[in-house]
Amino acid sequence: MKRLCVSACLLGVPCRWKGDAKPCEAVQRLAKDPRIELVPFCPELAAGLGCPRPPIELVEGEGVEPLQPFNPSTSSTLQPRGSASPIRVLRVDRTGDATDALRAACEAQADALARSGGVDGFVLKSRSPSCGLAAPLHDAAGRETGIAPGLWAALARERFPDARFFDETRPPGAAP
Ligand code: SF4
Repeated sequence: MKRLCVSACLLGVPCRWKGDAKPCEAVQRLAKDPRIELVPFCPELAAGLGCPRPPIELVEGEGVEPLQPFNPSTSSTLQPRGSASPIRVLRVDRTGDATDALRAACEAQADALARSGGVDGFVLKSRSPSCGLAAPLHDAAGRETGIAPGLWAALARERFPDARFFDETRPPGAAP
């Protein structure tokens, strides 16, 4: 039995910032395969960001400072762990900072996966600042400056170096 952690929105869970889902046929097929156990996870919901919620993006560079927590009631009780990243996850309108709450939620999920037997792979939503294997990176003014892994994608690679990583554009079983 293979165990895959998947972005919940790809399974059809309406957890995206607009309140919709992004169902992926390939992922939904995996859900019916008795040889595969899927573990759905939405980092932004787990971080208490709500749904629908204001959009967030990866931000790096001069002038990027931590802002007020996105959700003070959640993030005040959650402490970041692990390696600090200079990249932050901020509201697009720059009125809140989701970094610490997201990192804590992702660390908790990684701990839970490790405790319950590990994971063979991840199927993640592309371009998401949380789940994307490569997501747009912005400067303080909101200009796109490059790409970087989303916070969950980066942390999952660090915590599960032997796992395989896919997204809905190249799901498991797709031709190379
Ligand atoms: S991409 Fe990730 S954080 Fe965004 S809705 Fe899907 S599961 Fe949640």
